[in-house]
Amino acid sequence: MRRVTRTPVLATVAMLSTSVLTASLLATPAEAAPRGTRVSGALSATVSHPGGVVVMAGTVKDKGKQRRTVVLEQKIASGWRKVDKVRSSRSGAYAITVPTTWFYSSKLRTRVVRTRKLRGDTSRAHRMSVIPAYTPLGSPESWAELSRYGDRFDPCRTITYGINSSRATPDAATAAASIHNTIALVAQATGVRFKFVGETPAMPFDKLFERSDPKLVFGFTTDPETKLDLGPAVAARGGSDRTRWARNARGQRILQTIHGGVLYDLTDTATMTATQFQQLTLHEVGHVMGLGHVAATDQYMTAGPELYDLPLSYQAGDLTGLSKVGLQAGCIRPLRGHRRQALERLPVPVATTLD
Ligand SMILES: [Zn+2]
Repeated sequence: MRRVTRTPVLATVAMLSTSVLTASLLATPAEAAPRGTRVSGALSATVSHPGGVVVMAGTVKDKGKQRRTVVLEQKIASGWRKVDKVRSSRSGAYAITVPTTWFYSSKLRTRVVRTRKLRGDTSRAHRMSVIPAYTPLGSPESWAELSRYGDRFDPCRTITYGINSSRATPDAATAAASIHNTIALVAQATGVRFKFVGETPAMPFDKLFERSDPKLVFGFTTDPETKLDLGPAVAARGGSDRTRWARNARGQRILQTIHGGVLYDLTDTATMTATQFQQLTLHEVGHVMGLGHVAATDQYMTAGPELYDLPLSYQAGDLTGLSKVGLQAGCIRPLRGHRRQALERLPVPVATTLD
């Protein structure tokens, strides 16, 4: 039986070069089809602060002398995601800069893209962490979801944002600077990309959506001019404005935010310093991203005025929550034919010193 099956194999191999024949005969069954390409990869560091320089470097070994395309991939909950790519040198050496712009702890690997003649390969995966340069306050457990449907943006898609600063207080420049600073901190905490698209005539929560509207709108009004409660105890409202049913990376049904917004009570923000305006914005954009209130007063998602005493950075629980709604949580897949509006209904008290 063995003899019968081996004979045609040898006959075929014999027509190829002698080196191939030798290799075929010596190879164990598991190595009968040798991989044409091997790639190694190692990280220059496994922990970094934001802005640190970390490189994944290694060598591509194959039979050719061509430069190969090497892709850096990161493991998020929905699978391996392309981060960047480079070309190897003719000797096979490559080095790719690892992103250190946002907080994560996940595996990284490199993948050599197959060509018509040469096979691809993936390197071993290595865990990499980017951690804050400051010590966040409080407990990493101090976070909550905005709703049981988890309203949040797809973290794999760029979120455009615009400001309707026609009635902005304390003044348009201060408001814009505080909003940009907040968005930079949210991007750092989530890995989500944001793109500022400038001034917009759109207003949050007015249910008048235009295709050209930014996905996230910041606007200013007064309590009598909106159906939302912007009464004496409420300085702003933030949350999702338009949602649709989707599935998260685990396959669970959640609400995907299509439009979100922050609506400020311009009579309250008129007397705020730039710092207070940003503290308020850090809280409201937390809601926009899908976070709810927590009892702990050392977090930006506290419902109390204590947030005006916090340093201008997200704290331990805030950071956990933002990572759960960020890129590491994986991409969202929309379900067709389902829509629902949702809005966060918990008011934010203004600082008592401002009353
Ligand atoms: Zn709130």
